[in-house]
Amino acid sequence: MFSLRGKRALVTGASRGIGAAIAVGLAEAGADVAIAARDAGSLAGTAAIIAKLGHKAPAIVLDVTRVADCRRAAAEATQALGGLDILVNNAGIEQVCPSLDVDEALWDKILDTNLKGAFFCAQAAARIMKTQGTGGAILNLCSLTSEVGIPTAVPYGSSKTGLLGMTRALAAEWAPLGIRVNALAPGYFRTSLTEAFYASEPWQQAMLGKIPLSRFGQLDDLKGASVFLVSEASAYITGACLPVDGGTLASI
Ligand code: NDP
Repeated sequence: MFSLRGKRALVTGASRGIGAAIAVGLAEAGADVAIAARDAGSLAGTAAIIAKLGHKAPAIVLDVTRVADCRRAAAEATQALGGLDILVNNAGIEQVCPSLDVDEALWDKILDTNLKGAFFCAQAAARIMKTQGTGGAILNLCSLTSEVGIPTAVPYGSSKTGLLGMTRALAAEWAPLGIRVNALAPGYFRTSLTEAFYASEPWQQAMLGKIPLSRFGQLDDLKGASVFLVSEASAYITGACLPVDGGTLASI
């Protein structure tokens, strides 16, 4: 029931970090995976790993802040793979800033990427899934900030809290179409998004103190949860957000 054999997926932000790991995880479970990001060249590494697993990995150039791009990417993935069963809304950005200094441009950049982009990718994918008539699964990358307030991360936290609300509302609205919508809330994972924090040893020690399993997340830790939430194994789960955080949220 965890097999994704014959499934066709689109993963946004699949060139590096969490998105690359999830894309490879879906391919390891049997899926063909269209991989998307703004920089086409940076997708080659993920594409090569998936191709080695014997699966299709068409690379798609996509800026999720542009609604037309979201629609084109879903259409290109569908054409390249012969259909679309799974969308992983992973593309995301963060830029910490004291709230008194946040300007409109920063607010729009983060919200347009993390929230608006996710919505219009979900809408484009769901339109295709509805036409196919075979249902589908959408997975949104939420965050600890979907659940708790973190200083200097207000646009980011707003986008991720919004994304959790969107996950629940779309799950309710699209259940009759057989489209399940769930979310993952990764804890602390070292990627280019978070690299700057890890440069500080005191920060690392403080964060480790908040993680009951006493280690930062490894990208492979996200594969099982992702495969679970887009496979038949989670057929009766929709509107849920699964923390993958070593117990952090449970112990705050
Ligand atoms: P990275 O910065 O390592 O990767 C981000 C990916 O998103 C890249 O592939 C990037 O490619 C792509 N991307 C960024 N902006 C856009 C855009 N406008 N359109 C299309 N693609 C875009 O980040 P992570 O892997 O750390 O994060 C992935 C997701 O997980 C994000 O949503 C993040 O908020 C979430 N998350 C991460 C956590 C962590 O600890 N790392 C914790 C909780 C959640 P390119 O620049 O070429 O477009």
